[in-house]
Amino acid sequence: LVARMHGFGTTIFAEMTGLATEHGAVNLGQGFPDTDGPQEMLDAAKAAIDGGRNQYPPGPGVPELLEAVAAHQSRFYGIDLDPRSEVLVTVGATEAIAATILALCEAGDEVVTFEPYYDSYAASIALAGAVRRTSVLRFPDFAVDEESLRAAFSSRTRLVLLNTPHNPTGKVFTRDELELICSLAREFDAWVVTDEVYEHLVFGDAEHVPVATLPGMRERTLTISSAGKTFSATGWKVGWVSGPAEAVAAVRTVKQFLTFVGSGPFQPAAAVALGLGDEVYASLSTSLEAKRDLLVAGLQGAGLEVSVPDGTYFVVADAAPLGATDALEFCRSLPLRAGVVGVPVSVFHDDVAAARTLVRFAFCKRDEVLHEAVRRLGALR
Ligand code: PMP
Ligand code: GLN
Repeated sequence: LVARMHGFGTTIFAEMTGLATEHGAVNLGQGFPDTDGPQEMLDAAKAAIDGGRNQYPPGPGVPELLEAVAAHQSRFYGIDLDPRSEVLVTVGATEAIAATILALCEAGDEVVTFEPYYDSYAASIALAGAVRRTSVLRFPDFAVDEESLRAAFSSRTRLVLLNTPHNPTGKVFTRDELELICSLAREFDAWVVTDEVYEHLVFGDAEHVPVATLPGMRERTLTISSAGKTFSATGWKVGWVSGPAEAVAAVRTVKQFLTFVGSGPFQPAAAVALGLGDEVYASLSTSLEAKRDLLVAGLQGAGLEVSVPDGTYFVVADAAPLGATDALEFCRSLPLRAGVVGVPVSVFHDDVAAARTLVRFAFCKRDEVLHEAVRRLGALR
């Protein structure tokens, strides 16, 4: 294995789902729903397969999905995109993230991001031979710290890699925080790559602010999303990136040699899903908000301090009251001790001390599954 990939081993999601299977534990580790998305979308995939759409789709994506992504950005955010030149379909958001970083970063360029970060960010930055510079979001409010953020920028900064709503914290970046980040990006002439896969999973009064809608940002922002979260189809791996034509063309050049194309029959189905009514979008976040409340109350009842998330389907809790002193060790022992799986937040940090005893639990599960997890955790005390 090449030196720049040392330390990336096996992802925490694979390890923890492996433990869940081995011990028959309740898996609140890896983030995937245990119910299916909209029936119209499922039917559209079957129709695409039966209709013979099983060969290579066009390189940039099937036209109806490119158009559906552009229509979605216009409908929800007032962002106008040319579907032919400003949208690219990828194999999940994961490929969009990797291809974008590989397309924009020379070896030695710096990428500013926040920690905890989604694991593929660090790996994709490393693959590109770039250097990550981070600012820590601290439990329990995970607010942006202006001083450390400013200190992460330099003349080598090539791009800012942002994720809102944020995995693993559930934080939804405020407009003020985003404006600060964007003003630094403009000052240092950096791209902003914004991972908005949880754009529709936002609760209560919180508002998802797409970076590309902020003044002066459209021309320096690449926006990434995916059908996986919005439509509960994480296994389909249909993602996309949108932004200025020149940058999207650069990402397309790289993408051609990573996967060429992907997700053939699922692309037209994702297009159908994107076109569904507002009530479909609203119903997922409404049902998730109730699940958030259920799990938050359960974790609090089990004695944990919890950061109540405004978005995503993750909640971070401090497991110190359950005896945790090291989140990774705690999560490795939890399946056997309690029959529950969570993910240690420390693995998403360079500054491991910032998350020494923090555990992420996913609440995109049926209510009975959440109740059972809470019951098992409560028995630990
Ligand atoms: N970004 C974030 C923040 C995520 O949480 C995930 C999925 N867990 C991805 C990207 C990857 O999305 P996909 O499955 O579409 O590749
Ligand atoms: N995005 C999901 C999570 O954060 C799963 C990612 C994965 O398995 N690679 O849990």
